[in-house]
Amino acid sequence: MIIVFKKGAKNEEIDNLIKRVEDLGLKPMVSKGTERTIVGVIGPEDVIRLHPLDVFPGVDKVMPVLAPYKLVSREFKQEDSIIKIRDGVEIGSNRIVIIAGPCSIETEEQLKGVAASVKDSGASILRGGAFKPRTSPYTFQGLGEEGLKILKSISEELGIPTATEVMDTRDVELIDRYADIFQIGARNMQNFNLLKEIGQTKKPVILKRGLSATIKELLMSAEYILSEGNFNVILCERGIRTFEDFTRNTLDVSAVPAIKMLSHLPVIVDPSHAAGKWGMVSPLSKAAVASGCDGLLIEVHSNPQEALSEGSQQLLPENFSELVEKLKKISAAIGRTI
Ligand code: PEP
Ligand code: MN
Repeated sequence: MIIVFKKGAKNEEIDNLIKRVEDLGLKPMVSKGTERTIVGVIGPEDVIRLHPLDVFPGVDKVMPVLAPYKLVSREFKQEDSIIKIRDGVEIGSNRIVIIAGPCSIETEEQLKGVAASVKDSGASILRGGAFKPRTSPYTFQGLGEEGLKILKSISEELGIPTATEVMDTRDVELIDRYADIFQIGARNMQNFNLLKEIGQTKKPVILKRGLSATIKELLMSAEYILSEGNFNVILCERGIRTFEDFTRNTLDVSAVPAIKMLSHLPVIVDPSHAAGKWGMVSPLSKAAVASGCDGLLIEVHSNPQEALSEGSQQLLPENFSELVEKLKKISAAIGRTI
């Protein structure tokens, strides 16, 4: 249920109602918009129904949220959420944010070379995996903490925020110390303990859509994070498994406008893992920008033939740079910037 306050409702009226909600054993989630305050009430439906809250001073209306995801829904918050990262970088505003870097952090030289080049070309966030979710246990699993140290030192040297994957609840605290954004990979989208743990931090998180997850399931997973108090969630469409096997996955471009209708959270697109082929990254990125996404996550490697993971889908820095120039034109055509 959501409680919508009147425009200009007094702080004491809002505090008074929050106290009442807490006294009933329910959880209030406050969203202060530019015009109005909205309080989401989470708890057993019967308790909520039994106690009228619309009689409280300052309250405009009380509405049930029909969707199973509550805090994530557009009903809860009408305006688009803008997630602040660091150094003035934010995701969800008019500016389309590009996150780029290698699949895996391999060496300091490798990451530094790619980082400097993608930053130069227009990327505002550096990605790189230190803990890798590989299909085979016999392939490169990532450098672990050593990789995180490399990521942080390059981030500080170049002044670029970073995103890296967290696979295990036991690594949350460690990764929190080294990176600016947690990435929850497709294979962990329904690792509910991990979602709850990340929900207890305040750090921005990119939540990737599972290989076989519906949009509703993705939003339910996001709800786990928000319900623990972390509203800094960025959703990511990265391709889903279909009968088509030419591409590694099928990029569901329609997920972008669908999520925009259903949720206030920003949505980014990862064309690299969707395609699995570097030659398709450019056309899919263009489609993603045209579809209204708030950002792109693109894998870039200076020597893809020698990459320790997913070489076939990583762009060369020069191809990445060319792509960004084309994306600027598409963004301008739809009234956005890069
Ligand atoms: C990645 O970003 O390197 C990755 C493994 O992505 P996904 O979880 O989407 O497969
Ligand atoms: Mn990868």
